[in-house]
Amino acid sequence: MPILLFAILAWILLWHGIELWLGRRQAASIRSHRERVPAAFADSVTLDDHARAAAYGLARLRFGKVSGLIDLVVLVVGLVWGLDVVSRLFGAWMSPGILRSLLILAVLWVAATLAGLPLRAWRELVLEQRFGFNRRAPSLFVRDTLIATLLTAAIGGPIVVGILWAMRALPGPWWLGAWAVLTLAMLVAPTIYVRLVAPLFNRFTPLRAEMAAPVEALLARTGFRSGGLFEMDASKRSSRGNAFFIGFGPTKRIVLFDTLLDNHPPPEIEAVVAHELGHFKYRHTLTGMLRGIVGLFFMLAAIGWLARQSWLLPGFGIRHPDPALGLLLAGLVAGSLSPLLELAGNAISRRHEFQADAFARTTVGVAPMVAALTRLARDNASTLTPDRLFSLVHDTHPPVPVRVARLLADAGRA
Ligand SMILES: [Zn+2]
Repeated sequence: MPILLFAILAWILLWHGIELWLGRRQAASIRSHRERVPAAFADSVTLDDHARAAAYGLARLRFGKVSGLIDLVVLVVGLVWGLDVVSRLFGAWMSPGILRSLLILAVLWVAATLAGLPLRAWRELVLEQRFGFNRRAPSLFVRDTLIATLLTAAIGGPIVVGILWAMRALPGPWWLGAWAVLTLAMLVAPTIYVRLVAPLFNRFTPLRAEMAAPVEALLARTGFRSGGLFEMDASKRSSRGNAFFIGFGPTKRIVLFDTLLDNHPPPEIEAVVAHELGHFKYRHTLTGMLRGIVGLFFMLAAIGWLARQSWLLPGFGIRHPDPALGLLLAGLVAGSLSPLLELAGNAISRRHEFQADAFARTTVGVAPMVAALTRLARDNASTLTPDRLFSLVHDTHPPVPVRVARLLADAGRA
């Protein structure tokens, strides 16, 4: 077997093994605590809710095991066989060029998307449905999927053509040009998303009057200016509550899900908004974007260097080379570090969540924040008894019991 193909497959299998082991730990932790509500939540979470969260957590782990295995098979088949076959097919009747490369990438993308579709449909229409989270009828699921696929093609297509063109026109520094264009795209994406993309999926209306006044008072108290307060009809798709801020500077908007507004009393909604304000106050969104831009620079530099190496394609056993495969496999090799980067990114994200919680505690008090987190955990059926290692690897947010314990400890100290 070609050496690079062997190395990448070994690495992928190693991570798959680690994932399976972590999943087993998480399942064991959920199972061994499901008979009793943890003491800290004995007054706020019923045994029924606790058992429902356990059942949901275990069902998701089982789903993750199956979908992980299917993803693995698709990836291995694609690497060992698919890439070379598709490249040979197009090579047989097209001369090398941007169009041929684009078609190769398009066929591989469509194949990968179709392979993943049944799993996505199952997760939402069966698994999430069974626990009452899904509110999307199959017809809306199909409509959303079609729109998202067309959008990806409409946005991704020109970007890929640009990169393929730059690889031919500026063989050395093409990746630098790609970095500049993608950075620009990342900077304007939030605005485009809010104005053009999000309205395709949801309706945004001014925040209901009874909540607008307290939220505006909170903004005034914390010296925060916004470009508008909105609520979004998230209940059309899911019963989960959330809030987000989008954009930068004075045009940033605050969006609250109608599910959050319907299910939480006003003090808890204020706590959730205060938490989001904490993220802005400590510039988490901005530094996150800067980290993304710097990370993209190194990623593209690595891809640019790898794609130029004559050993890359033979190393994967490719007998019908095309720049498209160079780009794809360079991306795969450079991206093989991503599980480690994700680990670091999740650790940073969890630290930011603690900071935002602390900001909310000093702004609205500890009780509403604890109550909001508890209600969110209960309504979202998040486990209150996660495994430490599983959480360390996967969680972008610290588990609710950890956040609540930290809030109460800090409040006791203050
Ligand atoms: Zn947060």
